[in-house]
Amino acid sequence: MIHRLNDIDIEVERKFIRSMRLSILPPDARVHLSVPFFVSSEAVQSFLLSRWEWICRNREKVLNRPRPQLPEYVSGEQHYLFGRPYTLQPESVTSGANAVVLEGETIIMRCRPNSTVANRRALLHEWYRPLLRARLTALVSLWLARLGEAPVEWTIRHMRREWGSCAARKRRLVFNLDLARVPDECIEYVVVHELTHLAVQNHGPAFQTLMTQRLPNWKNLRKQLNNSSLWNTRSKQSEC
Ligand SMILES: [Zn+2]
Repeated sequence: MIHRLNDIDIEVERKFIRSMRLSILPPDARVHLSVPFFVSSEAVQSFLLSRWEWICRNREKVLNRPRPQLPEYVSGEQHYLFGRPYTLQPESVTSGANAVVLEGETIIMRCRPNSTVANRRALLHEWYRPLLRARLTALVSLWLARLGEAPVEWTIRHMRREWGSCAARKRRLVFNLDLARVPDECIEYVVVHELTHLAVQNHGPAFQTLMTQRLPNWKNLRKQLNNSSLWNTRSKQSEC
């Protein structure tokens, strides 16, 4: 339901929750309000009025935030592999297989002259995948042994919001393909984080205590991972 207040549209969504939650969503500063079913429309209206100043201030902030530039996979663009920057150099080839090759500081991408952004993105992603798989294979088996944990199943997927996820009961982990862009120590943080979910499924005090025992530096690594726009190709990636 759309609620209009002083020229701004506010999406009001009824949900099974206990209290109202107001958020300003990037990139276009949409105003979203989640409302418990028992709250009346009058209460919604007065809540919005009481937060009016907050809404304006935060819309302004979101609208003024620099928008992340989406890569176009063209010559000279910077792309990261395990935390190190490389310059992309696409080369048009009319025969042979499309391929990505690392040469010094350059990522050479051999692709068809009429390749689209989507083609080139897929090509780079498929190049990342086995490289990341090798790193993860080493890290997962190292940490399983260190923690005395039984084997797990894991896969790599391109995910929008999470660096990783863990279905503890099935012992199944998923790692984000974008981890190929980040430094090794951040990949290790995500591996330890997901493996720790085998023991504790939430992020509460017990989880944090285990993380500190296992990887004392984990809070810094998490910050490094989530604050860096260098290897994020999306606006914001939140933690798992
Ligand atoms: Zn988590």
